[in-house]
Amino acid sequence: MADEVLLSAKNLVKRFGGLAAVNGVSVDLWRGRIHAVIGPNGAGKSTLTNLLSGDLPPTTGTIHLGGAETTGRSPEKISRAGLGRSYQKTNIFLPFTVWENVRLASQSRAQRAASWLSSATSHSVTNERAEKAMVLAGLEHRREAIAGTISHGEQRQLEIAMTLATEPQVLLLDEPLAGMGTVEAERMVALLQRLKQAHAIMLVEHDMDAVFALADRLTVMVNGQVIASGTPEQIRADAGVRAAYLGE
Ligand code: ADP
Ligand code: MG
Repeated sequence: MADEVLLSAKNLVKRFGGLAAVNGVSVDLWRGRIHAVIGPNGAGKSTLTNLLSGDLPPTTGTIHLGGAETTGRSPEKISRAGLGRSYQKTNIFLPFTVWENVRLASQSRAQRAASWLSSATSHSVTNERAEKAMVLAGLEHRREAIAGTISHGEQRQLEIAMTLATEPQVLLLDEPLAGMGTVEAERMVALLQRLKQAHAIMLVEHDMDAVFALADRLTVMVNGQVIASGTPEQIRADAGVRAAYLGE
C-alpha cells in the first residue's frame, strides 16, 4: 500500500462563543504515518479530534476524507467513509466479554451493509472482522474475559479493537496511554507501531516518550493555534516549542 494522504483538513476554526478553541489548524494524515498532536491542557486537541470525526461541526474550514469532502457530515457518515476514533471516555460494555464487545462493534458496521448481504454471509463477515480486530489488538488470549475484570491497559486495547472492527482507514486516538503503567504503555506503543502500517493515525498524547518514539510528524498546539509542525527532530530543536511547552 503506497503512502497517501487519507485525511486533509484545511484552516479549521471552531468557536465556542468568544473562544476560538481551534483557530486556523490544518493537518494531513498519511497512510503509514503517525501524526502526533501535542500541547498543554485546553490547547484544543480534543476539539480538533471532534471536528475531524464529525462530533462537532467546524465554524469554518474544510475536511476531506479519502478524496471526498466530509465537512459538516454526521459522525455515522464519516465513520462509514473510513474514520475510526477512540474516546477518552470508554464505550466498553463492562458486563460483556472481550469477544462480545468486539463482535458488537463489528455488528454496528454489518447493520449498515446488511441491505446487500444475505444474513448468513453478513454473520460470517461480522465474525471474521471481529476476530481480525481482536487479534490485531493483541487480545486473543482474553477473548472470554469479562471486560469489567481486565486491566486498564487491556481495556484501552479493547477500545482500539472495537474501533478496528469498523474497518477504518484513519484512526484518531485521544490519549490512548492515559493512566497506564510502564509495561502497559510499552504494549500500547508496540500496538500503535503495528497499526500504522495499514492506517493513517492521529495521536493526541501527553506521554512525550511515547510521542517521540512513535510520531513521524508532530503538530504543537497552544491556545487553539499551531505554534510548530514538523518532524520529531524539527520539533525537538524548535526554541519556541521548548520555551512554550517542553518546559526547557
Ligand atoms: P485539550 O484537549 O487540548 O485539552 P480542548 O479541545 O478540550 O483542549 O479544549 C479547548 C478549549 O475549548 C478549552 O478552553 C475548553 O474549555 C474549550 N471547550 C472545549 N469544548 C467546549 C464546549 N463544548 N463548549 C465550550 N468550550 C469548550
Ligand atoms: Mg483533551
